[in-house]
Amino acid sequence: MKKPSLPSSELGLIEQIQRDFGTSSSAVKLGIGDDCGILRPPAGCEVLVTTDLTLEGRHFRRDSHPPESVGHRCLARGLSDLAAMGATPLAAFLSLALPSTMLTTAAGQTWTAKFFNGLRALAELHSVPLAGGDTSESSGGKNALILADIVLIGYAPKGKALRRSGAFAGDALYVTGQLGGAAAELAGMLGRRKRIATVKTTEDHPHLFPEPRLDVGEALLRRGVATACIDISDGLSSDLTHLCRASGVNAEIEQEALPIHPLAAKLDAKSALHAALHGGEDYELLFTAPSSARMPTSLAGVPLTRIGTLKPRRSGQPLMTLLAPGNGPAELKPGGWEHFAKPSRHAKKKTR
Ligand code: ADP
Ligand code: MG
Repeated sequence: MKKPSLPSSELGLIEQIQRDFGTSSSAVKLGIGDDCGILRPPAGCEVLVTTDLTLEGRHFRRDSHPPESVGHRCLARGLSDLAAMGATPLAAFLSLALPSTMLTTAAGQTWTAKFFNGLRALAELHSVPLAGGDTSESSGGKNALILADIVLIGYAPKGKALRRSGAFAGDALYVTGQLGGAAAELAGMLGRRKRIATVKTTEDHPHLFPEPRLDVGEALLRRGVATACIDISDGLSSDLTHLCRASGVNAEIEQEALPIHPLAAKLDAKSALHAALHGGEDYELLFTAPSSARMPTSLAGVPLTRIGTLKPRRSGQPLMTLLAPGNGPAELKPGGWEHFAKPSRHAKKKTR
């Protein structure tokens, strides 16, 4: 990664961003430097737009998350939404509110530079140009918070974007990668109560450096095999609820089939299952396809696992059931993340 350089004013920061994120993308006709960016989506494609807020204290903590991770996760959340619809990124826009100390003190300048290093590394990996944004000083004096709002623009062939609403009863339910890793890593971090100063590699840090599944989403769209898709940002149980509601179906999950991430597998069996079902922020894809469709064991280098089947919607029957070995089907309730939920729901969670 580049050695951090340290601008100390709004204009200085914007000029630095403009230098560091120089765009050579043919999709960006006009990038940072004017009142608007001008984008050129490919012919025959529709434009997809998603926005994600990253708020200090809610989505990360300055005392526990390395700044590179905060920048990475800020972009990863938007990219994962594009992946869920099978879209290809066109450009990102970043609105940033920073406490004044982030530009006027050496420690703050270093934090800001490292935040951009983390964001840029992921942007380069997926060839996503940063085509604009906004910068403001946040209010609140000593208690001022960092806020980063990312807008991702993507494209997909007309009428082909994957949606939550296309699944049918009888379809098979798949997930990419492994589940519960992000929750397990976060729990470990909060248990240590100490900031991880630097991480040598972004690999195998499902919470700090999640990998958005853009290649898998694009491959699913190209193959035309998925009937519905969603990313698992709030937790499998919550996001499956969204898919079932949107598609008008019920779902049955086989507990034994769940691919548990090695970090979650180190926990006791109950906690591991809880992390996989409800943990959230794994940024894997959850998708459906006809049971008769031949599905490879991996796509774009990412393992695919069949974890269940969709059932017809019947009144009085639970939306989701979990089949555990030796037990009958048990109702599975959404237990993942939800903002504004009663405090007890998230009593143990410090960030998400
Ligand atoms: P305006 O006053 O018209 O909003 P700004 O001075 O805020 O213009 O921004 C100047 C240029 O810098 C614009 O092209 C804007 O998109 C870009 N920009 C501002 N802040 C950021 C940021 N945090 N990240 C990326 N680009 C930014
Ligand atoms: Mg502005």
